[in-house]
Amino acid sequence: MRLSSIAAATLLLTIACQPMNTPPQPTPMQQPSVPPHSWSNPEEARVEHLTLDLSVDFPAKQLVGAATLRIAMAPGARKLVLDARDLTIERVFGASGDLQYRMGTAQSTFGAPFEISLPAGTKNVTIQYRTSPGAAALQWLEPAQTAGKRWPFLLSQSQSILARTWVPIQDTPTVRFTYDATIRVPKDLVAIMSAENPTERNATGVYRFRMLQAIPSYLLAIAVGDIAFRPLDARSGVYAEPSVVESAAREFVDIPRMMTAAEQLYGPYRWGRYDVLVLPPSFPFGGMENPRLTFLTPTLIAGDRSLVSVVAHELAHSWSGNLVTNATWNDFWLNEGFTTYLERRISEQLYGRDHAEMLWTLGGKELRDEFDLLPPADEGLKVDLAGRDPDEGSTQVPYEKGSLFLRLIEEKVGREKLDAFLRRYFDEFAFKTMTTDKFIELLRTRLLVPNNISEADLQIDAWVNKPGLPSNVPMPRSQAFALVEAQSAAFGRGTAASSLATSNWSTQQWLHFLHSLPKPLTTAQMADLDRQFRFTQTGNSEILEVWLEHAIDYGYEPAYGALEDFLVRQGRRKYLKPLYTKMAATPAGLERAKRIYAKARAGYHSVSTQTIDGILKWGN
Ligand SMILES: [Zn+2]
Repeated sequence: MRLSSIAAATLLLTIACQPMNTPPQPTPMQQPSVPPHSWSNPEEARVEHLTLDLSVDFPAKQLVGAATLRIAMAPGARKLVLDARDLTIERVFGASGDLQYRMGTAQSTFGAPFEISLPAGTKNVTIQYRTSPGAAALQWLEPAQTAGKRWPFLLSQSQSILARTWVPIQDTPTVRFTYDATIRVPKDLVAIMSAENPTERNATGVYRFRMLQAIPSYLLAIAVGDIAFRPLDARSGVYAEPSVVESAAREFVDIPRMMTAAEQLYGPYRWGRYDVLVLPPSFPFGGMENPRLTFLTPTLIAGDRSLVSVVAHELAHSWSGNLVTNATWNDFWLNEGFTTYLERRISEQLYGRDHAEMLWTLGGKELRDEFDLLPPADEGLKVDLAGRDPDEGSTQVPYEKGSLFLRLIEEKVGREKLDAFLRRYFDEFAFKTMTTDKFIELLRTRLLVPNNISEADLQIDAWVNKPGLPSNVPMPRSQAFALVEAQSAAFGRGTAASSLATSNWSTQQWLHFLHSLPKPLTTAQMADLDRQFRFTQTGNSEILEVWLEHAIDYGYEPAYGALEDFLVRQGRRKYLKPLYTKMAATPAGLERAKRIYAKARAGYHSVSTQTIDGILKWGN
């Protein structure tokens, strides 16, 4: 389905919905533009504020309650169109009583247009509803899936267009709203949201939240569980299950320094507090930049703070993404490429230039690997996701190619000028949206023309619209990696693993070592490496994942038990995707993959099962 067909479908439904007491519908020519991947009509009626009052029903796996929307209406507007997917609507009413509504036909990922007729002058609409136990944004964990094993846990993931599965809302990044919420949970549990949060358990089980800054729907977030809090400084802290919170606070102790570094570069942090929540291991992402409360995977807890660049990334979203937001999911690189660039700058400030160069190199490797799997049309920064699940655009391209484009600009104009440009950009477009075309225009007028840099020199078109990497791609260089390459080459020439010089290597060096080993490796070489470095037993998820890829590629059976265990005990898509993909490459591997998946699937979030179902053709 192409995007234009979504718009067309809206029109058909609009016409089909005529029985409501509304004035004649506009003809298709007059139909206001519909945001991509949304059924909503913000140009007619726009949500300004959301009030949620929800009870969390763990046995039924449902949120039950009401959403009240404050609306700004254009003159003559008579209806509000929201996005809704798998919601059961019980009643819709305004100040004057019940309102007529109509749920259109649902279309897979996009859900349905939820159209409410509005009498003139309507300011507030209340929707009583309940979510479905299968709501795609929500994951209901059994006690066994938590660290404490005693209480259930609820977590949400709204990006890209999953908010509509738990809140009836205009689910597009072009609509921003403030919110408040009352959340009722079992008395032993704590609720927290992407908002002002409690730091103490509340004996009543009723938690109230306020989000004073306007956010797009994909940043709505909730978690409920046995959650404790440890402060890091006056404005940041860590939430996690009680048995995890101390190790999490130790791992993420650098957050206050990261905030200071980010503010020096890009201006004040505008969201009040910055806390992180370490979730149970099924969380599908490394992190999610829910404002005021980043959600994190526990696979970042390596014990040596070596994987905290993900936290720098999520913090950086407080500027790129949460403050200046991609106008559509086709412009996703404006969120992720900028954030990856900022993440590397914050990491450089804290841990030095060579450390940042290692991150750049590892990112570039992931990008080049991804190019092997992607259709050329999805390799430009600006992608066409019309009619597709926008999650399909969540590849390494917006992240790594996007950040390399910014690094190229830095190399051309100089760091000082790019920093000044970015600082002004975040100030000027704070709480607004940005398109790729508008950004390129700003780049042209503010950086290229004043500095006499031609567009041909920058190869803008190749970066934005063409596959692969342009010839002017920046080449990061790390001294630490040069040392690693000498050792992997020596291993390739026959030096025993025990004779390699690897003392004091960082996680990033180990990763680069595994990437730069000669191909293919024999079973004897794999066994030699494993005996010496104990990769199969490592507690570092990042290293383990790359090692397990080798184990699949080279049929190293002693690691198969660890492979299965890793796939069953965590659900981070970045790890699942390459491992299942590699297994699926051979008939025997595919069989093993399906056997493991049958066991693991119930523990994954829908974001991950959506991807892995496709890789394994599950259910076909
Ligand atoms: Zn990001």
